[in-house]
Parts: sequence; structure tokens; C-alpha cells
Amino acid sequence: MIDLPSEILHSFTTILGDKPLPLHQPIFSGNEIKYLTDCIETTFVSSVGKYVTEFELSLANFIGCKRVVATSSGTSALEISLKLAGVCPNDEVLLSPLTFVATANAVSYIGATPHFVDCEDTTFGIDPHALLEWLNHMSVLENGQCVNKFTNRRIKALVPTHVFGLPCQIVELAKICLDYNLVLVEDSAESLGSSYSGLHTGLFGLLGAISFNGNKIITTGGGGAIITNDNALADRAKHLTTTAKVPHSWNYWHDEIGYNYRMPNLNAAVGLAQLESIDQILLNKRKLQSSYSSVFNNLPLNEYLGLVSEPKNSVSNYWLNTLILKNKYIPIRDEILKITNQHGYGTRPVWSLLNRLPMYKSNPHSPLPTAEILEMSLINIPSNPINTIL
Ligand SMILES: *Cc1c(COP(=O)(O)O)cnc(C)c1O
Repeated sequence: MIDLPSEILHSFTTILGDKPLPLHQPIFSGNEIKYLTDCIETTFVSSVGKYVTEFELSLANFIGCKRVVATSSGTSALEISLKLAGVCPNDEVLLSPLTFVATANAVSYIGATPHFVDCEDTTFGIDPHALLEWLNHMSVLENGQCVNKFTNRRIKALVPTHVFGLPCQIVELAKICLDYNLVLVEDSAESLGSSYSGLHTGLFGLLGAISFNGNKIITTGGGGAIITNDNALADRAKHLTTTAKVPHSWNYWHDEIGYNYRMPNLNAAVGLAQLESIDQILLNKRKLQSSYSSVFNNLPLNEYLGLVSEPKNSVSNYWLNTLILKNKYIPIRDEILKITNQHGYGTRPVWSLLNRLPMYKSNPHSPLPTAEILEMSLINIPSNPINTIL
């Protein structure tokens, strides 16, 4: 029996060096200042300017999709995606309880109800088997619409999250969506650069949402994007996120209730510069994961825990590296968090399950045995895309 917390701390010192390291930090090593200066010198800092379009085109090129619509946040990208997917007030939307709260909040903003389904312990995404079993138990197809027979509400969409950048079993989930007439919208907030069977996450359904918050794989300060291969939907997304103004040189005409969810030019300037560095960032993330893996997935530590690796068929961006404690060692989790944080290494538990939060505690949910174990057994470990010791 080893002293697990000390052993983990020792591994961090070996792999990361002994300086304090947060969980994740953005790096600005390219043209960020140059492009920001350009915005300020030309006065185009806000809703007009070339960087938004350049960022959108460059991102579409990187992702390999037809269209990108930049937004004010990942949450607003999700909200608009759900709206365009046809989610209406009083609908239900299926999602995992093991995701950031924004996934459920975006559903709530529309007046729909988040309905939680269990996840799997390999990808941490929605478990296709659990989803099928739950749909068979609680839903009926009425005139082609999937209806929750206990609440009588229509179930309109499924919003799987690619947790920590790990692609979930998105092809299986997409098949189920077809069979049950659910619209698929992917929460790809954390998975820029992650793909499944060669296709970028976020492109398996109708629309995908990405976040560029400060802690994500690249950042615009704050911001998000809607990605899609559907030109008409992208046009709708642009219209809705920019106050539904009908383009005209001087007239103000808005043809529906739109949103001010546009990304300012300043933020897009940072995003464009960040995107120029993304290949290096992704490479550094992979190197770090592999250094961690050589320690945590080998004796003696692999008797106690495992380091999460990308599933077969998929490429992870390794946004946040994650340890998963074997069941017997779950009680030691807090000791590990305490010791590592005391020594300056940013480690964190996973989110509290969303169905425990006060505003979602009465929401419908499937049995959640796996989510409940994961909630106690996951630890995110320092995942900076730095290259100092690698
Ligand atoms: C970050 C994140 C969001 C929200 O993105 P913001 O840009 O912070 O609004 C949504 N879902 C998940 C899974 C996230 O990690």
C-alpha cells in the first residue's frame, strides 16, 4: 500500500517541475497584441470590423465545416442552436448531468426543461445504452414526435457534451436521435480540435456550440461559435445573434426579436491570433497527456487510478487531463485535492451533478448510477499547453 496523495504529488513534481501550476492557463504567444492594436487604431473595437469574419472563416477552415457564426459566449451559441433546432417552451431536452451548468441553462432560457440521462465511465458522455433503455421506458412516439409519457411533454432534442474534450459516442447517439425523432445539437464547448472517425465534434447533428472562454483550449476572452454544414441555418444564426437587423446601409429594420449575441471585433482579433497557434497548443496537450500516461497508467499507480485516454476511433484535444480513481480509493480524493493544491498544482473535482443543483433538483432524470460514481472519482490535473519541460 503506497501513500497515494504523496505519490501523486511526487509524480507532478517529476512531470511538471516544482513551480506552481494552475489547472489551465491561456497562452498568448502570437499576433494577439498586433491584432488588438489594429482594432484600437482603426477604432473598430465592437460590432463592426474585419476580425469577426476572418475569425469565422479561419475557424471553419480549421474545423472543416461550411459555416461558423461567432457569438458572445458558448452559452449563447448553445441557446441559439437549440432555438434553431426547434426547441420550444415546454419541450424537454435530454442531456447528461455531468456537464457544465451552461448546457442546462441554455435549455432553460428557452423555457424548455432539461431532462438528465446517465453517462458512461469511458468517455464521460451520454451512454447510448442507458439512453435507449430510458427512452424505451419513458417515451412514446405520437404523430412522429417523441413524447415523455409521464410528463406529457414533447422531447425535442438531445444535447450531448464532449466532456473535457473527449469525444463521446456521437455516432451511436446520432442513430438514436434518428430513430426517436430527436434533433441532435452538440455541446462542443470543450472539444475544439477533437474529432470522431475523422469528423470534427459538433458536426454530427444539426448544429454544434463552441466556447472561447478564458479557460478553454483557445480563448477570445469571452465568446463562442455556432458551427454547422447547413448554410440556411447559419444565415438564421447570424441574423438572430445580431438583433435580427435586415442589412441596409442606413435603415434600422428588425424583422423579429433578435439577440445581441454577436462577438465584438476585439475578441475576434484575439481569437484569430489564438487560432494561428492552435496546432502547437494541441501538440503540447498531447505530449503532456503522454507524459502523464507513462506514470499514471503504469505500476504502481495504475492499481489505484487511471489517466483518461482518447477512446478508439477518436482524437481528443486533451483540454483537461483527468485521473479516475478506482472505487476503493474514492474516499482518498479530497486528500489528493488538498495536498496537490497546497503545493500549488491546480487540481479540481468534476462538477456537481446538475440534478443536485437547487434549480434542477426536481427535473426528470433516468437512473444515474455511473454519473454518481464519476462525480466522486474524477480529478482534473494541471493541463497547461506550455512547453517548458516537455
Ligand atoms: C464552457 C462551457 C460552456 C459555456 O461556455 P461559455 O463561453 O462559458 O458561455 C458550455 N458547456 C460546456 C460543457 C462548457 O465547458
